Amino acid sequence: MIQQSSDVLILGSGIVGMASLIAIDKYDIKATLLSEASTLQKKEVDPRFYAITPGVKTWLEKNGVWDFLPKKEVFSVRSIIVHSDKEHSSLKFDDDAVGRNGLAFIVNHDELEKAFIHRVSEINYEEIKTNKVESLSVGAEDIKISYANENIRQFKLVIGADGSNSWLRSQSSINFKNKDFDQTAIVFNIKTSKAHQGCAYQKFMYHGILALLPIYTDEFSIVYSLNNEMLKEYKSLTDTKFIQMLKNEIGEMFGDISLTTKRQYFPLNMKINESLISDRVLLAGDAAHQIHPLAGQGLNLGLRDVIEIDKLLGSNKKYHHDLGLKTFLKKYNRNRKTDILTLSYLTDKLSSLFTSKNHIVDFVINFGLNKIDQNQLIKKILIKKAIH
Ligand SMILES: Cc1cc2nc3c(=O)[nH]c(=O)nc-3n(C[C@H](O)[C@H](O)[C@H](O)COP(=O)(O)OP(=O)(O)OC[C@H]3O[C@@H](n4cnc5c(N)ncnc54)[C@H](O)[C@@H]3O)c2cc1C
Repeated sequence: MIQQSSDVLILGSGIVGMASLIAIDKYDIKATLLSEASTLQKKEVDPRFYAITPGVKTWLEKNGVWDFLPKKEVFSVRSIIVHSDKEHSSLKFDDDAVGRNGLAFIVNHDELEKAFIHRVSEINYEEIKTNKVESLSVGAEDIKISYANENIRQFKLVIGADGSNSWLRSQSSINFKNKDFDQTAIVFNIKTSKAHQGCAYQKFMYHGILALLPIYTDEFSIVYSLNNEMLKEYKSLTDTKFIQMLKNEIGEMFGDISLTTKRQYFPLNMKINESLISDRVLLAGDAAHQIHPLAGQGLNLGLRDVIEIDKLLGSNKKYHHDLGLKTFLKKYNRNRKTDILTLSYLTDKLSSLFTSKNHIVDFVINFGLNKIDQNQLIKKILIKKAIH
């Protein structure tokens, strides 16, 4: 039997799925959230910490999510040091330089997810929990989806927030390019003997990229994107040997270091979609784009997709009656393009440039980093670009 109980189906109840629900609810549009039953039962602790940009934080504040984050679990980034081991060039950004209190705000995945779950519990929506989404059929007036042995529902629009291996993307025949970086991110936390004063640190090396995000007063969450040829060796190291190796790479800046969590591993890929839309289908978050984590921008990008949905709904009431309208979908696709392509391109190029063994590239990076570091105006422009 076909039922229609709401206008929009959001497929996937990760952070971007929940954010989409919050955005849509503001306009009194009825939504259904379809969660994957198996992931709701998980769950291993997610070790990732996200550097949320000030622009995204503002949206989370305005939409009642930020207040559900315990204050002691939010950490400000006051400065960022970028270092390349190519001739030891480096670059420093300070929040003072742009008159801001914080260049980014670090929160743990599980804390952020909990804040979203709290906020979403205030909304009146329908939830479907299933492991079996079966098929999709698109008509002129609606889109039908069947799940769990032939339950069929019809909607005006389906939003795919179902992650980087999106089922909805494949069902909608949206093409994408996949790039395997041949790198794996090792994620773990360390404690330091010197306080970090909110300083984030990134080091580019031939064999990988180290990103240290400051948490508490003397701890870092580390994402170490390591070339796969070195991975086996690093994986086989005992914690003591691993920390010794890390100490050699970080140096003395933060004093002694010790490991405080286990190491977890995430293989790294980039996916660029040919389009974010298809008939009565819209993709957001990692379903729409997957990028290298070196700039800490993947989730920010996904939440900016949702901010765009929010903006478009706020701009024209016509969309509230039929969210599957081509004009709405096309505007979304057009407006999100530059942000997504710029970050995909930038993170891809940075990862290959810094790990390249070409001496001309070494010279340019060394020259470029030092020149930028001496130019306050360029630094201000770069910071302003990075924090939207
Ligand atoms: C090591 C690492 C570090 C990172 N650091 C940062 C950072 O500092 N800052 C930042 O902004 N980003 C960062 N990112 C990126 C960030 O983790 C992702 O961009 C973000 O988690 C994507 O969220 P999402 O909700 O789109 O997808 P997901 O979190 O993958 O959620 C997808 C949801 O869809 C559900 N689902 C899947 N298939 C189906 C289906 N068929 N039916 C129903 N539901 C389905 C899943 O169960 C899940 O709940 C990092 C990524 C990595 C790997």
